[in-house]
Amino acid sequence: MALIFDSLRYRFFLAMSVLLLVAVTSLVLIAHHLAIPALLAEEEVYATAELDRAMRAIGNELGHLSLLNKDWAIWDDSYAFLTGEAGDYLESNVADGLVFEDADLSLLVFLETDGSPHWIAGIDPANQRYTSCPGPTEACTWTAPVLESLQGRIANGLSDETRLWLHAHPQPGLVSVWPIVRSNGAGPAVGWLLMMRPMDTAWLGRVREGFGLALAVEAIASDAPAPRQEIAREGSQTLIALRRVPAAPPGHALELRVELPRHAFRARLDDLRLTLYWVVGLVVLVVVLVLLERMILSPLRQLATFTQHVQQRGDIDPPRSLLQRRDEIGVLARKFQQLLERQRCQTSSLIELSQHDALTGLGNRRLFDHRLEEAIDIANLSGRSVVRLMVDIDHFKAYNDRYGHPAGDKCLKTVAAAMGQHFSLPQQLVARTGGEEFMIILPDTSLEAGSRQAETLRRAIEALALPHAASTASSVITISIGVARYFPGQARDIEGLTRAVDDALYAAKQGGRNRVRREAG
Ligand code: GH3
Ligand code: MG
Ligand code: MG
Repeated sequence: MALIFDSLRYRFFLAMSVLLLVAVTSLVLIAHHLAIPALLAEEEVYATAELDRAMRAIGNELGHLSLLNKDWAIWDDSYAFLTGEAGDYLESNVADGLVFEDADLSLLVFLETDGSPHWIAGIDPANQRYTSCPGPTEACTWTAPVLESLQGRIANGLSDETRLWLHAHPQPGLVSVWPIVRSNGAGPAVGWLLMMRPMDTAWLGRVREGFGLALAVEAIASDAPAPRQEIAREGSQTLIALRRVPAAPPGHALELRVELPRHAFRARLDDLRLTLYWVVGLVVLVVVLVLLERMILSPLRQLATFTQHVQQRGDIDPPRSLLQRRDEIGVLARKFQQLLERQRCQTSSLIELSQHDALTGLGNRRLFDHRLEEAIDIANLSGRSVVRLMVDIDHFKAYNDRYGHPAGDKCLKTVAAAMGQHFSLPQQLVARTGGEEFMIILPDTSLEAGSRQAETLRRAIEALALPHAASTASSVITISIGVARYFPGQARDIEGLTRAVDDALYAAKQGGRNRVRREAG
């Protein structure tokens, strides 16, 4: 389990999953607890405003009815009808019932000043039939609730506020009352004229056309417990706004119902969703980039910088922060460090191999050439001479022939080890430059001193007492040594030195072997 969480991939995916979870949860929380409630509240404000508009439309309609009512009430013909002087009033104005259709009325009542009916006419909402009565007769009992309301108002004294009202029973309607006076306003009122306009389908249709309101009106019992205003949503398409308004007679009320389309709400909701998606999307993107930078890009850059340093400075240790990581980048850094370490070991052992002789472990010709050049450069700078010895084992071919090649190898190793021990100072070098031929560099050494040291070496090898029965020079392994030197300012290059030491060795061989000869002069 721990290994899984060490993996960069799993950690990154885990971080992504947590991030997405947080983003989706925030989206849901913001939408449900902040954004949508705000939109719903806004929608309720809109619904209330539309109900207010419906109330103004009704007020407007009452105003129109009042004007019509006034027109008829302040008219000499109506006045004469009440005083009994206009016998044909009904025939010419009301009797055919057409006025109800033309003026969109459902009830017309002429009353005496005390509120008793003088003449009643209207369309019975129960059967839609036109009826007219010269008083509250049986045929017009349906008008009783309206008349009672009016009589109550007359008894209390009619004012501008109580002249107009909404009526719920026997049908929802608008009611207006005016005192009947002469056209010139002279004299006292002789009665009252009441007009009622039904809030029926035709009237609602006109409200819809005139005010753009899908209004419905319903008569209800006023004692029904309910809030004054309610807002209900029917799916995502329609909003229903209900408002209870007072209406006569007592115990009744009207409920206004306005149907409102919810397209504004849906459009705002879509905008809000889009904004939220964008905001959350951008936040997620930024967090992903930060995570990517912190978890992957930054350590990768560190690794890349380190690899450049490897080339430039030969650094092989990646930064600790990378080595301590337990993810793939940490693994990469540690592997890289191991590879560099291995490469460094291989390179140094290759250098070692390329400069040393496999059989004896001494330096080879490549190392010798390089060190000789160095020694001559140092001699030129220090002004001190360098001695070069050329050593050759005497009659070694015969040794091989006599004792065999493996024994020859063993002998070579023994002689080489002895020479290495003999010249073991750091600046001195013993190299195997041929089969049984060796070169020795003795820096900061005079020709005499070099010759003395060569003689000591020769004796040391002889003292090894390695039997050589096939040698004509001795009964043991011996060496011949040529000695030459280089000193600063000498008109001699390395080739000249080589020739000189070669000549000296040749002289030693010619002189009978097992001896030291130094260059002439
Ligand atoms: P001289 O006294 O004139 O130097 O005579 P030499 O026989 O020593 O010289 P020569 O050059 O004729 O022979 C050198 C011999 O060294 C020949 C070869 O068999 C032997 N030799 C060279 N390299 C190796 C080696 O790695 N192992 C063995 N066992 N013998 C070698
Ligand atoms: Mg030789
Ligand atoms: Mg030899």
